[in-house]
Amino acid sequence: MLASSTSATPEAARFRRRLMAWYRDNGRHGLPWRLTRDPYAVLVSEIMLQQTQVERVLPYYAAWLERWPSFTALAAATPADVIREWRGLGYNRRALNLHRLAVTVISEHGGELPASPAALRKLPGIGPYTAAAVQSFARERPIAVADTNIARVLARAFFGAPTRREVPARALSNAAEALLPSRDVRHHNLALMDLGALVCSSRAPRCGECPVARVCAWRGSGYPPGEAARNPAPRFEHTARFARGRIVDALRAAPATAAELAAMLPAHHAERIRHYLEALEKDALIAPAADGLWSLPPGLR
Ligand code: SF4
Repeated sequence: MLASSTSATPEAARFRRRLMAWYRDNGRHGLPWRLTRDPYAVLVSEIMLQQTQVERVLPYYAAWLERWPSFTALAAATPADVIREWRGLGYNRRALNLHRLAVTVISEHGGELPASPAALRKLPGIGPYTAAAVQSFARERPIAVADTNIARVLARAFFGAPTRREVPARALSNAAEALLPSRDVRHHNLALMDLGALVCSSRAPRCGECPVARVCAWRGSGYPPGEAARNPAPRFEHTARFARGRIVDALRAAPATAAELAAMLPAHHAERIRHYLEALEKDALIAPAADGLWSLPPGLR
């Protein structure tokens, strides 16, 4: 059990040794955002990778950097360009945030991402994870990063829990920090991330191939189920994200009334159409137009 380990304990050292040996042979070393230290490119990848699979992000990332290779280029784009380029990636608000961030970096930070984590986190769309990821992956700062993949590995290996939701966030970040090596923290973070993505997956962990299986607390205690198993996540079609995405897609084509938009949604979403429209308007992704119609905001058409 590694629950109380620190970076100096033999258990933590063994964990890291096994992890890094596995990573050398199995890590995703060729991902394009790992071959650069450009903070802009790393940031674009991190925003795109929020809740989107690597394989889906790859073509969008390449096209985005070709079209807008820098904060300067992106800040000069229009919101309409940005939202169109994002089509198909989902969570459209990320695109607008990235654009707003570029404008802020140019207008308030002289074209450079701010150095301090606190200043980074004040930028649109940047939460604690993204700020830490940019610091670690672009600037090689020795700080812990805990995306969903890393958090899941830590929750299972250190706390014997099946998902990160069973473990307080503070405890997970303490564990991530306690496990940091004294050198090459960037690759340590990437290795944990890859282990979570490739082996310790959410639904079907491949413990037989796992380099830290022998010290994994969840495996050692016989895989007890957690809260998530008792309350499974709803199907995607039942989520607000699905309905919001459908509404924005419809309005990309043409303005429509609330009734018309409700009619293209399943009944359980149609009855919440007002709620969805208000939320999308608040996010500046849609706007009321003349004659009871809704449309994309003028700058997004
Ligand atoms: S042994 Fe299984 S559950 Fe534990 S960290 Fe490895 S893959 Fe994940």
